[in-house]
Amino acid sequence: MLAGKVALVTGAGRGIGREIALTLAGYGAAVIINYNGSRERAEALAAEIVQNGGRAAAIRANVSDAAEVVRLFEETLKEFGRIDILVNNAGITKDNLILKMSEEEFDAVVDTNMRGAFLCMKQAAKLMLKQRSGRIINISSISGIVGNPGQVNYCAAKAGMLGMTKALARELGSRGITVNAVAPGFIKTEMTEVLPEQVKEGMLAQIPLKRAGETKDIAEAVAFLASDRASYITGQTLQVNGGMDM
Ligand code: NAP
Repeated sequence: MLAGKVALVTGAGRGIGREIALTLAGYGAAVIINYNGSRERAEALAAEIVQNGGRAAAIRANVSDAAEVVRLFEETLKEFGRIDILVNNAGITKDNLILKMSEEEFDAVVDTNMRGAFLCMKQAAKLMLKQRSGRIINISSISGIVGNPGQVNYCAAKAGMLGMTKALARELGSRGITVNAVAPGFIKTEMTEVLPEQVKEGMLAQIPLKRAGETKDIAEAVAFLASDRASYITGQTLQVNGGMDM
């Protein structure tokens, strides 16, 4: 489905990003596994993909740093020559009720989730406009759609990503480039593992499909949007949440 394509996945050393990288590689794409702190896991993942006959490389870069993002794209081009698919997956949370939320907590979450996506889209757009093709997929969140107490920073960033998705879909549409978002619900990863049991039970109670999502549920949605099968879909948000919001 993705043979001959080159995909850059940010924050792909672990969690949802790791599964997206594995899934895109499974469909035939060469994969750049961006990481920030998880070097060993990212390199092990690249080695696993190569061992299974695929193409992959792990490249460190903090996506909220403009110079590091420029280097990430330069190194990717050196290694693979082009980028067909960008998945903006890197993200963090720093939850707090607004009276306790510091400016640092607000800025860090907006910088990593939203500014990081902006910086990567800017570099990708430059290449994709020349290629006259491309797929950009932003990993937003149900929190950016319905809101979540204690997450003013995260909800702002994830809602901002949906706005950027639509704006860029309009900017790049005439050149055959699609820009879409996937908004996961409650997915089992290290990000949600740390939530108090009571919060997890509260989340599960809101899910009509009666289970937390698996990383694979998100990865398959991303692979679809990255493929030619989704060539007439742009500016959209695909919610993958077991029916939590409908
Ligand atoms: P996770 O397990 O905590 O993983 C976060 C990933 O983001 C890691 O690979 C981390 O890389 C990377 N990252 C963080 N800061 C970065 C930076 N400055 N530069 C580059 N990479 C950075 O989280 P997850 O659950 O897989 O979440 C992945 C995405 O899905 C996030 O955008 C998250 O907001 C979104 N999401 C998750 C859920 C959920 O229920 N889990 C729901 C909705 C949306 P390093 O370890 O290398 O630093």
